[in-house]
Amino acid sequence: MSSGVRAFVEAKAHVISTCGVRGEFPFERGNYFTSSEKYYFVNLWYENLKHLLDNGYLEDGKIEVLLFKHLDVDKFGYAYVVDERVPKEALHEPYFCGIRTNVEIIRMHHKVPDDKCLCEVDEYKLLTTSGRDDKGLDRLWCCQCDTRFEMQMQRRDGVYRVQLEEDSLRTWVLAWQEGGEFKRIPCMTAIEDSSIVKIDVERIYNTGTGEQQGNSIPLDKFRFTGLIRSAPKK
Ligand SMILES: [Zn+2]
Repeated sequence: MSSGVRAFVEAKAHVISTCGVRGEFPFERGNYFTSSEKYYFVNLWYENLKHLLDNGYLEDGKIEVLLFKHLDVDKFGYAYVVDERVPKEALHEPYFCGIRTNVEIIRMHHKVPDDKCLCEVDEYKLLTTSGRDDKGLDRLWCCQCDTRFEMQMQRRDGVYRVQLEEDSLRTWVLAWQEGGEFKRIPCMTAIEDSSIVKIDVERIYNTGTGEQQGNSIPLDKFRFTGLIRSAPKK
């Protein structure tokens, strides 16, 4: 595996994606771009490049990168920024738009040992996610050996609808999951795994539907108990 060819290239964006980006430097998430020399920059968002240019980090208009080839094309296509003038916080982990990925860059960035495939390290974190079905089964892909994986990912903590069977009676309840353990709401008593029949795939969202939000009330009304209106005397 090569480790790229070191070069100073034009720090000039040519084709830029068009996501709305908020915030300020360093941007955690931004638009990807291809440079005027047609290199796709894998670890620098356009917004961060612009900040570096506007603030005199790259006075000569060049940026030092490692250039990588497309897998099957004899042409350099990817640029991985290594310029010492670029602060670390301006860079992000390699990101590839669309289905194109570059195995060499991922291996170099994550320091994958030579004798391991991308699917054999970091507990499948280096696989590309290609989709998720309605039961929460993730489809993953190893871009190095082209193996497909299906994996059930752990649900995050939160409130779930859980179906229980107790004394041959099935009921749906709300339960809080934390660290893989379910507790019944509101009493927060632990639920035995053996009594759980089914759990909804998705958490119950914190924010309700538009209709539910439209029916929401201020705190003083929420806590008020008593007479609101009396019928007028006739
Ligand atoms: Zn693999």
